[in-house]
Amino acid sequence: MDTLKICHLYPDTLNLYGDRGNILCMKKRMEWRGLPVEIAEISVGEHFDPYDYDIYFIGGGQDFEQEVLLKDLAGEKGTAIKRAVDEEKVFLTICGGYQILGNYYKTWDGVQCDFLGAIDVYTVGEKKRMVGDFMFRLSEEDGGSIVTGFENHSGKTYLGKDVRPLGKILRGHGNNGEDGTEGARFKNVFASYSHGPLLPKNPKLCDFILKTALARKDPNISLKALDDTFENRAAAFMEKRLSAE
Ligand code: GLN
Repeated sequence: MDTLKICHLYPDTLNLYGDRGNILCMKKRMEWRGLPVEIAEISVGEHFDPYDYDIYFIGGGQDFEQEVLLKDLAGEKGTAIKRAVDEEKVFLTICGGYQILGNYYKTWDGVQCDFLGAIDVYTVGEKKRMVGDFMFRLSEEDGGSIVTGFENHSGKTYLGKDVRPLGKILRGHGNNGEDGTEGARFKNVFASYSHGPLLPKNPKLCDFILKTALARKDPNISLKALDDTFENRAAAFMEKRLSAE
């Protein structure tokens, strides 16, 4: 098996609530299975070739950091990210990173951020933030399991017709607190409002994402089961707590 190459975009600018833990989780779950994996970090002013990596990760950030990145995204970097999405590279993007892939974000105080338009979603900020532990069920196509996480955003995201939600909200707000959707799926993009970080708390989703990327190298790939006793116990605890709310 070829090395799985993971690219962490803007690790120093977009890394809220330990979002970097998603990278560590993917790396560990590969290593525990004896599968080769490499991590690269690409930040402001650094270029990358969209064909060089199998998985791209973008974490969350405040409105301020997103505004700071506008210039960098408007150049070669934005073109490379869009190309990678079009070429069906796997993306995992969280909150501010999710919003950046969309068409635009209008902040609650009126700043218009024109983003990449790599996926057909848009975001409008509201002064009242959506904050707290939350829970959603992944769509059947993505494994159908329950995901627990933590959200903290002012942006309300709305999906275009070719983008389907990552899941359906069971507790909390998700995309906008209105239509019961959470996150987005388009080609091999997985986008979510879930910090937490998302993958260590939800190993089934981590494996689903790894498998999506590995299947592009070897369609017959199967991932050996790991001992997720502790992760499953933690998830069951959160599910119970949130269900009781
Ligand atoms: N700045 C965005 C918002 O508040 C994203 C925040 C985040 O990444 N947690 O909607």
